[in-house]
Amino acid sequence: MLQRKERRISRAFYIGRFQPYHIGHHTVLESIAGEVDEIIVGIGSAQRSHELENPFTAGERVVMISRSLKDLDIDCYVIPIEDIQRNAVWVSHVRSMTPHFDLAYTNNPLVFRLFEEAGVQVERSPMHQRDVYSGTIIRKRMLSGEGWAHLVPRAVAETIDDIGGIERIREIARDDVG
Ligand code: ATP
Ligand code: MG
Repeated sequence: MLQRKERRISRAFYIGRFQPYHIGHHTVLESIAGEVDEIIVGIGSAQRSHELENPFTAGERVVMISRSLKDLDIDCYVIPIEDIQRNAVWVSHVRSMTPHFDLAYTNNPLVFRLFEEAGVQVERSPMHQRDVYSGTIIRKRMLSGEGWAHLVPRAVAETIDDIGGIERIREIARDDVG
């Protein structure tokens, strides 16, 4: 009789606002993909969109990230997570929205602390060329007309083109009395 083997899946969690998802994030996930069987990407501040700091909707970010992650050849779940403004219960909030995960990766000190206090194994993720790959820098470039597409995975640039993302950012930056 065939014996049923218990398969133990290791699953990691990684969170960001991803406004937009860029090559810095992608490099971190590439390296996490070498460590675990599955990855959960949490899209933070999911409720925010159409703002200069948060131009893209949760759904748009799901598309950008899911398409980019196809390159990684690992099973991923991309899950929007709204802010709850209560750090003390934030980890429970995250867990209520995600499949079980064994460890989390972050370089955000608050996120690190919250996971640690909740008893979740947490590892630091290194920065990859932060002076080049940064959401703030990319959004500034989008606004000013400088090149930005080389700073994000191709699937992200295509998604932003498809939704008219650059026009949106420029439109919302306009002064309403101008
Ligand atoms: P913003 O400038 O809008 O805050 P960001 O580039 O910091 O954008 P986030 O979505 O805030 O992007 O980041 C998600 C996580 O990815 C954060 O923990 C952040 O520190 C990390 N991160 C950001 N840039 C890089 C990078 N170049 N290399 C590795 N990790 C990064
Ligand atoms: Mg940031």
